[in-house]
This record gives sequence, C-alpha cells and structure tokens, in this order.
Amino acid sequence: MSNFNNVSRRRFIAVAGATAVSSVLLKACGNPPAATPTATSAQATKAALTTEQVPETTKVRLGYLPIVESVALIIAKEKGFFAKYGMTDVEVSKQANWGAARDNVKIGAPAGGIDGGQWQMPMPYLISEGIITDNLKVPMYVLLQLNTHGNGIAIAGKHKDKGVGLKSDKIKPLIDKMKSEGTKFKAAHTFPKANQEFWIRYWLAANGVDPDNDIELLTVPSAQTVANMKTGTMDAFSTGDPWPYRIVKEKIGFLSALTAEIWKAHPEEYLAMRADWVDKNPKATKALLKGIMEAQQWCDNFDNRKELVQIVSTKNYLSVAPEVLDELMMGKYDLGDGRVIDDKSMAPLYWKDSKGSVSYPYQSHDLWFLTESVRWGFLPKESLATAKDLIKKVNREDIWREAAKEAGIPAADIPTSTSRGIEEFFDGVKFDPENPQAYLDSLKIKKA
Ligand code: CA
Repeated sequence: MSNFNNVSRRRFIAVAGATAVSSVLLKACGNPPAATPTATSAQATKAALTTEQVPETTKVRLGYLPIVESVALIIAKEKGFFAKYGMTDVEVSKQANWGAARDNVKIGAPAGGIDGGQWQMPMPYLISEGIITDNLKVPMYVLLQLNTHGNGIAIAGKHKDKGVGLKSDKIKPLIDKMKSEGTKFKAAHTFPKANQEFWIRYWLAANGVDPDNDIELLTVPSAQTVANMKTGTMDAFSTGDPWPYRIVKEKIGFLSALTAEIWKAHPEEYLAMRADWVDKNPKATKALLKGIMEAQQWCDNFDNRKELVQIVSTKNYLSVAPEVLDELMMGKYDLGDGRVIDDKSMAPLYWKDSKGSVSYPYQSHDLWFLTESVRWGFLPKESLATAKDLIKKVNREDIWREAAKEAGIPAADIPTSTSRGIEEFFDGVKFDPENPQAYLDSLKIKKA
C-alpha cells in the first residue's frame, strides 16, 4: 500500500502536526484511579472461565476521549464487566486529544503510552499505514464499534434565523456572500481526515457548498473553537456530545444537524488495538471484547441511562454536570433553532440501532471511510482498488464473532455478513459497498 501512504502523507502531516505537541503531556494525563463513583452500584459477578478463556494478562491500558463515544469503555470498567472476564487491571486512560491518543498508541503501553482504545475512523488505518505516525507503521486491529450517533454540526449564533438547517437552499448563498466579502465561513473539527471532518464535509457538499473552496476548514481544540464561536470568529463546529449541548445551552449557537439525521445509524467510533498486543494476548482480547459487549448491552437499556450518566459524568471521566448528559442520552435534543428532537433511536446507541448491530465492526463501513478519504483527496484514487485487502488485514471482525459466541450472544445479534449492505444518506445519495466507484461518480462535489 505504498501509494496509500506516500501521496497523502506530506499533506496529512502538515495538518495533523499541530496536534502532536501535546504528546509530551500524555503520560501525565493517565487517569488516577477513579474515586469509586459507583461504590453503591451493583458490580457484575465473575464469570466461571474455562482454561481456554483465562486471559494471558489481566492488564491493559486503553485510551479514551471524554465524549459519549467512550461510555461503554468506562461502564465496562466501572460496572465490573472487564473484571467479570478476568481483565482485572484495565486502565482507561483519558487522552488530551486525538493527536495525543495517536502518539500514545505509537509508543505503546510499555513505554508509557497505550495498547489501544477509542478511535475515530479511519485513524487505525492511517496509523497502521504510517500515514499519521511519521511513516512508522504501527499495525492495528479494528475490533468493535463503540457507538453510533452522538455528533452534530454546531453553527455560531450570529447565523441564527438565516435558514441554516439540515437541508436548505439558504446555506450556499450565505457562504458565497461571506466569501465575496472576504470573510470566508470558518468551520472547525478536532482532528483532520476523520469522522468529524467527514460529517461536516458531507453536510456542506450535500447543500451545494464545496468545503475545499467555499469555506475554511480547520483543526482547532474544542475549547478554543467554542471561545471563537462566542466572539464570532468561528462559524461552525463539527463535534461530539456533550459539546453541541453546551453550545446550545450557553447560547453560543445552534445545531444545523445531528449526524443521526445526516446518516441514520451511521458508523461512529471504534475500539482498535495495537496488533502486536492482540497477537500476543488473543484470550485477553476476547475477554476485553466480551466485557465491552456486555457494557454496550447495559448502556442500551434506557432504564440504566440515569445511572450511566451518574458514572460517566464524574470528574475522572467526562467531567460534566449530569444534566448536560441527561437529555441527550434519552434522545432529547433542543437544536437551539426552534427544532426539538425527542426520539430514543436518535440517541447515542451502543449495542443495537435501527439497522442492527452497533457493536459489530462492519467491513463495509471501513470501506466507506476509505472511499470518503478518496473523495476528498486524503488518499490517492488508486488506494480504492486495494482498500478491501487492507480492510481484511486491519478489520478483525472474526475476533468479534468468536468473542460474541463465547459470550453467549444470541445468533440473531451476530451479523451474518461483513457488509451492512447499501447505505443511504439524508440527501438520497447511496453507497453500495460492492461498487464504491459508483458512489464517487454520483457525487457532484468532490476532489477526486
Ligand atoms: Ca465522534
């Protein structure tokens, strides 16, 4: 996959480099042991493990970002689901940002980094190929999807009442006018060439805006973006919960769209680990997966969501007031522009969604992320021809299946295909994993 690597690397580093600075701070960022916020909540009882199931190690360090995507990892730790399967020393380690997570997995846990954890897509691919790790290939395995939904496009308050919504013919004229006045519309995300950049690009392009020419798209830390939106120097932010809620509640702006509206039951973030750790610890890997699968099922019982919020909102984890998470965890979103959504199927989901399994890592979704990377010129066109081979190497849905079977997950909850089939977006565009080129051909705005 050298073409995959060389062409885009230089461009990538130029953008991603800014986030590398924080890597030095990483070690200090590992969480201190949580102050047992769940001391009163019931813990899972230990499973009786067969000899073949006893993990090679009880220890692992998983990185996470303090956003709703990490919830199942935190719950697996705090509710004792990791321990249930013999993983008694799992450290869930808060990462300063995505660049820090990348740098930590590059060095690995023995050197003070992490063994794996939570990722936006296609970060595990970009790390495996050395594209965002200074050409050092660190093979990774994608093992499980952590969640769907829970992200949105926030727009600065100064654009309120201008008709900026999910699908609107007012967006393009507004952005063109700003461009002609020399004040290009500025939008931010927290890491380049991954989910949050893809969501805002998709939404803009579907509304006739060319994200490479009509606006400025930048990687900016969340806190700074919100401050800039307040002062009017940033127009939009593609971000994950709980940031959209804060932006609306603090009257900094409104939401033009939830990602759940752009693509219902869309793939969001994943558990991926260093391949060397998985290869060395296959039983421990499956034990981790079983613990997370059980946590995901627990999370998707809405009767548990009050307790979930109590656990994850604490200082050690998401560090927000519980009321910041209460409503969105129940699928209630005040978009701040008069629209209110109250629909549990639009909430962050961890185990099942309207299309089936959330937890299972569909290879067809990895293919969409790589195809979208080609669409915007992040990866060379030629990489599409070999994408499926790369996916077979990185996406280890086979390990998910084995773990699910061992955990006694009913066959009905284990997908029978590595493809979820044809996907449809809010603008009617379809992605057929059997023919990604047809998807690219159908798109009006693209770089490729
Ligand atoms: Ca996200």
